[in-house]
Amino acid sequence: MQRRFLVTGGAGYVGSHLVAALAARGEHVVVLDNLRLGHRAAVPDGVDLVEADLADAPAVDAVLADGPWQAVFHFAARSLVGESMARPFEYLTENGSVGIRLVEACVRHGVARFVLSSTANVYGNPPVVPIPEDAPTATTSPYGESKLMIERALFWAARIHGLRYACLRYFNAAGADPAGRLGEDHTPETHLVPLAIDAALGRRPELVIFGDDYPTPDGTCIRDYVHVTDLAEAHLLALERLERGSITCNLGNGSGHSVREVIRTVEAVGGRPVPARLGARRPGDPAVLVAASDLIRRETGWTPRFAALTEIVRTAYAWREAHPDGYAS
Ligand code: UDP
Repeated sequence: MQRRFLVTGGAGYVGSHLVAALAARGEHVVVLDNLRLGHRAAVPDGVDLVEADLADAPAVDAVLADGPWQAVFHFAARSLVGESMARPFEYLTENGSVGIRLVEACVRHGVARFVLSSTANVYGNPPVVPIPEDAPTATTSPYGESKLMIERALFWAARIHGLRYACLRYFNAAGADPAGRLGEDHTPETHLVPLAIDAALGRRPELVIFGDDYPTPDGTCIRDYVHVTDLAEAHLLALERLERGSITCNLGNGSGHSVREVIRTVEAVGGRPVPARLGARRPGDPAVLVAASDLIRRETGWTPRFAALTEIVRTAYAWREAHPDGYAS
């Protein structure tokens, strides 16, 4: 029998790349997405789309009742740290409470495997770099807190009901499907790589560098950029790994790049300058966020194929040039 997978937020950036990977393997995929941040055009032909909000409990129940499900992948979320500081309760309820209700509904409907899209933000300002998974979770934002709420619900669902789960804590997702079908399309866009590319392409007047007085070699913040296709692959491997038990792990390359390095890479890849101006620090930005990524590698055999920043930027650039208005192009 064909295996069936439910992907919440499967029309969004990372979710759509996983959906494409599952579909390419011949799996039956159902996407549950309210299309508020996701895109219908990001859902491939042959994949069922249920347009519903996760807060709509009867709709979620109806989908889950239509099983059996091999696994549920949960991506649907709001994911802006800054926005979560301005509207904490929206994040705690719409991400956190709604996510816990999804876990509860999965238990009720006999779903045995759950993969959560979590975040490096759960660590807050890390005491050690690269950050290992056993670093204390001390998030500095309601966004990170909302993901931790779901991580904890999964812990108890596992202990009490035997659910198996993978919590995958992403570092900086970037890049685009190398086949050119999918890419990053956020409104508003707040991420460094697409903003730098848009500045190079003249679609924005300039990029603002959020501070150059951090304790890093060039003074700008350092992040661990990980290719979205490698993230999707890690989800598939994590799913197999669940046969041996639950797991919580980082998803990053284990190497960091500064904001200025990203700008230089965008310039080198595109052959055009990135007009940039120095601005103030963005509140809440830690100086350095780099993953210790040995756990996922050791436990699943994950080996990123697009680990080089040049590859990440090259695929993102190609998608943006082909889709200057994102999926509306
Ligand atoms: N950044 C920047 N200018 C921008 C957007 C981001 O200098 O217009 C910096 C930001 O301060 C951070 C890095 O780029 O150090 C990555 O930011 P992004 O928002 O892409 O991801 P985050 O690390 O917040 O998840």
